[in-house]
Amino acid sequence: MLSPSALALAQTLVRINTVSANSNLELIHFVRDALAGLGVRSRLTYNADRSKANLFATLGEGKPAGIILSGHTDTVPWDGQDWTVDPLGATVQDGQLAGGDREPRLYGRGSADMKGFIAIALAHAQQFLDSPAPFAIHLALSYDEEVGCFGVKELIADMRDAGVRPLACLVGEPTSMVPAIAHKGVYRYKCCVRGKEAHSSLTPQSVNAIEMAARVVSRLRDMAEDLERTEPRYEGFDVPFSTISVGQFHGGIADNVVPRDAEFRYEFRDLPTADAAHLQAQVVAHARGLEPAMKQVAPEAGFRFETLCEVPSFLGSRDDAITRLAQRLSGEPGTTLVAFGTEAGLFKNAGIPTVVCGPGSILQAHQPDEYVSLAQLARCETFMKQLAATREFN
Ligand SMILES: [Zn+2]
Repeated sequence: MLSPSALALAQTLVRINTVSANSNLELIHFVRDALAGLGVRSRLTYNADRSKANLFATLGEGKPAGIILSGHTDTVPWDGQDWTVDPLGATVQDGQLAGGDREPRLYGRGSADMKGFIAIALAHAQQFLDSPAPFAIHLALSYDEEVGCFGVKELIADMRDAGVRPLACLVGEPTSMVPAIAHKGVYRYKCCVRGKEAHSSLTPQSVNAIEMAARVVSRLRDMAEDLERTEPRYEGFDVPFSTISVGQFHGGIADNVVPRDAEFRYEFRDLPTADAAHLQAQVVAHARGLEPAMKQVAPEAGFRFETLCEVPSFLGSRDDAITRLAQRLSGEPGTTLVAFGTEAGLFKNAGIPTVVCGPGSILQAHQPDEYVSLAQLARCETFMKQLAATREFN
């Protein structure tokens, strides 16, 4: 059974609007003050305009090293979605399972992704302080995960500057409490094409930005088909190879004007065994190959690439101590792969063994009427209690 105090804490966090476009400081200050009440100091690292912050705190200062419990504080928005409950209401009510049975659930934006996890971790702060475990617990709360994992990069850099060398990291994204040891990366780029405009009867004096953009888009499509044909499969993912997709394309002002500008956006979702940087290098090289002919007509013509986000893939291991610990504490003997991106690859790339395991299902995340079942929160609570009682890590 989920304790009423942990549920109340989850409701409090859901009721604070932390859509990525907004400040998350109300939530961060709430957590900072709650920890300060237990005598725990928090390190805050801010974004450029100081409207958002990460929080890093150590429960069990003085122990040789610690395990990070990591969560992002921001949520996706709900504009245009069809909700039957208030996204910020944090109501607890019964919902219907596929088989017809009913279960109590906490509804609200962020309940599954991932304030439920943060609340359950925070609710056990005192137990972590009293823990006989030979390791400390680090709470790591980030901003701007949903828009590209920007905050956690600052948090990891600050952790290094402070000389913190964690043993391992547990990212509490919703996996229905099944330890996940791999996900694909998400790399998004914008390509801006500058051509030269002219009356459409005078095409030799022009550089058609749409047509040049289309040649790069066509290259992306060829690369995608090549991956589908030849890339070694990574079984366990819904799509067991890396994918490429163009999501937006804009250009042109009239039928009889050769367009000067075009712009498109695309993404790679690369397997942990793939190399997104190499894919992007191929795209840029193809574009650079088109430029000499464009510049002969107009020296200012060419391609400009912008990085929108780079969230690396994640590959943990069944043999990592943190994976085995997560299996023991969750009561799940197996591991899984997840289809979504998380901060796990960034922790892993910083040299920290990492696993993803948290309450709720990704099927409800980002959806209207997002919820986490109280049974999932209760499983997370059991996990945290046992973590606080753990006497060894190996
Ligand atoms: Zn998330």
